[in-house]
Amino acid sequence: MTTQINWKGSYYDGRSLVPQPVSITVEPTGLTFHIASGTPHFWAYSEIQQTQGRYSGEEVRLERGAGLSETLVIPNANILLVIHQLGGDAARHIHHPGMRHKRVYWTIAAALAALPIIYVIFTWGIPSLAGPITAAIPISWETQLGQFVQQEFTEKEQVCDNAELTDTLETIMGKLITPIQDSPYKFHVTIVDSPMVNAMAAPGGYLIVFRGLLQKTDTPAELAGVLAHEIQHVLLRHGMRLIVQHVSMAVIIAALSGDASGMLSYGLQAAQTLQTLSYSREAENQADEQGLALLQQAGIHPEGMISFFEKLSHADGKGTSPFRYFSTHPPPSERRQHLEALASAHAVHYQNFAFEPDWPTIRNLCDTQQVGSKK
Ligand SMILES: [Zn+2]
Repeated sequence: MTTQINWKGSYYDGRSLVPQPVSITVEPTGLTFHIASGTPHFWAYSEIQQTQGRYSGEEVRLERGAGLSETLVIPNANILLVIHQLGGDAARHIHHPGMRHKRVYWTIAAALAALPIIYVIFTWGIPSLAGPITAAIPISWETQLGQFVQQEFTEKEQVCDNAELTDTLETIMGKLITPIQDSPYKFHVTIVDSPMVNAMAAPGGYLIVFRGLLQKTDTPAELAGVLAHEIQHVLLRHGMRLIVQHVSMAVIIAALSGDASGMLSYGLQAAQTLQTLSYSREAENQADEQGLALLQQAGIHPEGMISFFEKLSHADGKGTSPFRYFSTHPPPSERRQHLEALASAHAVHYQNFAFEPDWPTIRNLCDTQQVGSKK
């Protein structure tokens, strides 16, 4: 049996991506080959590192030098047998295909060992990384993502644009926003004509109130309480954090690599996340506490907020669909006690809204079915 000492391959000089075809000769101390210009090359086995070709079907890849190393790629892995046959001890560090199955078993074992690590990253790693990742997301992206989420909602449902209702909401929002200092967000409220008793805060200041919730309020102060709570979810970046925790790994990678468009292409997923998942109890308590403080700073009596949350949590009963908003919040009695204690600690002078007596009319302005009977 003759030993084949000449092999076809490609040479990369480390500076260009263009391969140069070469014929490689296997010698006892190393490999020799000539590139097109005619320059002879000799690579001693001691200089050679094998970076590919340990598995059957793979091309053999040999490199020399650090950094932008020179590379030889040989399609036929049998060259390795000849290198071992002729090179002996000098070629010991180069993979011997005879050892192949052992390596395959090791690879499988290593993959199995990695499974718990992957599991930990997915169940524990991402949630605990969500804080720092959220903090690294620029406000401008958050705002764009919020706008996208808001569009997802408003495309599917009809938006209420009644002028009197819009003006009223702007008055309430204006009062609430005035005490906020250095907010990076511009707040927008959209009323969606849906019977759902729900409200949500998309990232970046896009608040969505569903008609069903609006109609359940007995005073503007009650609606102000809900808005104050949602404003705090935005300022505390709870929605952004929830999205980071639950959307696919691709969004996180996009966020970390600075690819805004990559993140924005997940707007739909983000919208679904906000609609279907709930904040942690801790986040809800925070939004309650800071929301209450905001109401007080705005001169709005916090009793509206407290009683509204309590009222709807009773109506909710088992936390089923239209009242989902309240199914995830703290138990009503505990919540009232906690908020009342906070409110009495900072008693301030409160004012009523000028449109208070007209509220029963205003809260129904969104209901297109009833539009004829109102006015
Ligand atoms: Zn909330």
